[in-house]
Amino acid sequence: MTVNKHQDHKIPVGISACLLGDEVRFNSGHKLHSYIEQTLGEYFEYRKFCPEVDIGLGVPRKPIRLVRHNDEVICVDSENYALDYTQKLRDSADAQMHWVSGLCAYIFKRDSPSCGMERVKIYQTRGEATTTAKDGAGIFAERVMQKFPALPVEEEGRLGDAILRENFIQRVYVMYRWKQMLAQGLSVATLTDFHARHKLILMSHCQKTYREQGPVLASARKDNVAEIAEQYLLALMTALKKRASRGDHVNVLEHIQGYLRDDLQADDKAELRESFERYLQGYLPLIVPITLLNHYFRRYPNEYISRSWYMHPYPSEMSLQNFI
Ligand code: SF4
Repeated sequence: MTVNKHQDHKIPVGISACLLGDEVRFNSGHKLHSYIEQTLGEYFEYRKFCPEVDIGLGVPRKPIRLVRHNDEVICVDSENYALDYTQKLRDSADAQMHWVSGLCAYIFKRDSPSCGMERVKIYQTRGEATTTAKDGAGIFAERVMQKFPALPVEEEGRLGDAILRENFIQRVYVMYRWKQMLAQGLSVATLTDFHARHKLILMSHCQKTYREQGPVLASARKDNVAEIAEQYLLALMTALKKRASRGDHVNVLEHIQGYLRDDLQADDKAELRESFERYLQGYLPLIVPITLLNHYFRRYPNEYISRSWYMHPYPSEMSLQNFI
């Protein structure tokens, strides 16, 4: 079944179970997130999981928290810090790796000592007083991120921000296409083609990684392609986490316009330049210059640009470029 022209089937994405409405929180509640469940659910096939239920804590249960203990961060009961759940949560994470390895992304519940991706409270006991720092990661989430450093991950709270939302979804689709490429068979040719189609996306996020990865890929041969592919994927996904500024996008848009150099009339070029300028100044969203460019490329087709995912990185119905 084809979901849309971008995907043959829904994309497998892991998620903290409470975000889909499962009543698995310590207080028997849930944290249903309607955008994730309904809007993204049109494109994503969720694999939900609650690590605290998995280790047998039950519902309802006493809350747990992260605590700094000597040089280590551990996860304990919040009442008297006597019960240490750290290893159980790590073991639970390790036992899930067989299905996590098949995912294209993971959406975590923020602030959770098990599922939080970042800035989770760590309590520090000093004598009678307890102070907190918000620089921890949930034990389960941390394990997943350590095991799969290239996997796109995000928290539900950050998906309310248009730029972070677009960034995450773009990474999900890049990972989806990567897994499709692997399923078809990794070779120097398929890896080179993957890079060619993602070059402009990479260029918009990090020129340095873009420059570095060209020679890396050029060194790929039959006997080292798996190793090169692994290095490339990590470099690519790390670069894509960086926010692409309006200036970065304009550099790429101008680069793309260069492919129309011999085709456009002076007034067409002026119209494009004006749309780039107004986008740069924040008066127009990215979708406007992209739509204009697509219009000209329909008239003057170019194979490299039509195959580039920069021009259509995810389904247009998601309307993500209307808000960045
Ligand atoms: S452990 Fe994770 S999935 Fe379970 S209730 Fe807490 S945040 Fe939600």
